[in-house]
Amino acid sequence: MANPSLLILAGDGIGPEVMAEVKKIIAWMGARRGVTFEVTEDLVGGSAYDKHGVPLHDDTMAKAQEVDAVLLGAVGGPKYDTLDFSVKPERGLLRLRKEMDLFSNLRPAQCFDALADFSSLKKEVVSGLDIMIVRELTSGVYFGEPRGIFTEGNERVGINTQRYTESEIARVARSAFELARKRANKVCSMEKANVMESGILWREVVQEVHDKEYPDVALSHMYADNGAMQLVRWPKQFDVIVTDNLFGDILSDCAAMLTGSLGMLPSASLGAPMANGRPKALYEPVHGSAPDIAGQGKANPIACILSFAMALRYSFDLGEDAARVERAVEQVLADGHRTADLMGPDGGTPISTSQMGDAIIAALDAIL
Ligand code: NAD
Repeated sequence: MANPSLLILAGDGIGPEVMAEVKKIIAWMGARRGVTFEVTEDLVGGSAYDKHGVPLHDDTMAKAQEVDAVLLGAVGGPKYDTLDFSVKPERGLLRLRKEMDLFSNLRPAQCFDALADFSSLKKEVVSGLDIMIVRELTSGVYFGEPRGIFTEGNERVGINTQRYTESEIARVARSAFELARKRANKVCSMEKANVMESGILWREVVQEVHDKEYPDVALSHMYADNGAMQLVRWPKQFDVIVTDNLFGDILSDCAAMLTGSLGMLPSASLGAPMANGRPKALYEPVHGSAPDIAGQGKANPIACILSFAMALRYSFDLGEDAARVERAVEQVLADGHRTADLMGPDGGTPISTSQMGDAIIAALDAIL
């Protein structure tokens, strides 16, 4: 069988720095676990613009469609802030998401015990937290037509349209139910069915998909505003949360803060299954290119490393190896290793990006 294939798009700012640490894990997988990835590297974002005048070259897009998974670092930076909207670094990422039709965005919020003090919430509220937010990513109010700023009479109106088809709701619901079956088997669907017709349809379709295809999964529904309150009141009541693009954007950021640092948060965006049964997939840390610390060896590589762990689990069926990487991260944190973003108010000496990567490799060796 062909080796699993990976396209690495390290991007801009700290992207290449954190990706260098993922490459150490990829090499470790080959040397110690006998899993060799066919790795191709290419440009995205500002670095692609510098070379090609576009934030994603057509050839790169074609490669992304062929591989088993894409792993992305981060895009953007002040150098590109004044570019035309159509060639801004972020457009490269949006093009990938759109053309690969990555409709299901998985954002885990997991609190490592060693970092529980970092959360703005009480330790007992977040310690051991492990929830997954599934956000619909390719439809809803960010894409619906009509949209724009128009003039009506003597004033301007800004218009965006929330629009969901049954099939768009059903496919993201399925991905949430499938995930729940591999976790604690619970899904909470969030919308605003009390005030939005699209919310009424969302609730109906999620319920129908559940009753017909996933009756074994516990399903509940919640209004999204209550969901936001519940997330900070007692987040451990949730397992998988499924919600639309707009509410998902907000709720996943809210859940992210439960865990402490942006440098710890991975994500996956999944699409329909390809011919080999694997879903189209893009894995990336939640954080951006962090221009304020780029090139200084200060970035925390854990979000990117945990994104690769998600690739092992969801694209390559290597759940045990994914768990190993997560355990290694937990061990390194428990041993007190901290990049600068994880230093508490008491200070201490932070380790560098590459020292963190090396510590995780050492922990992987020890676990094996
Ligand atoms: P950011 O996530 O880059 O940084 C926010 C803050 O968090 C900064 O202080 C940064 O130093 C810190 N930070 C982020 N990641 C870190 C890590 N791994 N380790 C340690 N500290 C980390 O967000 P921003 O400053 O709003 O945006 C910077 C650039 O990144 C902008 O051009 C923005 O458009 C882009 N951006 C890209 C993505 C993406 O590629 N998916 C996401 C968000 C922002």
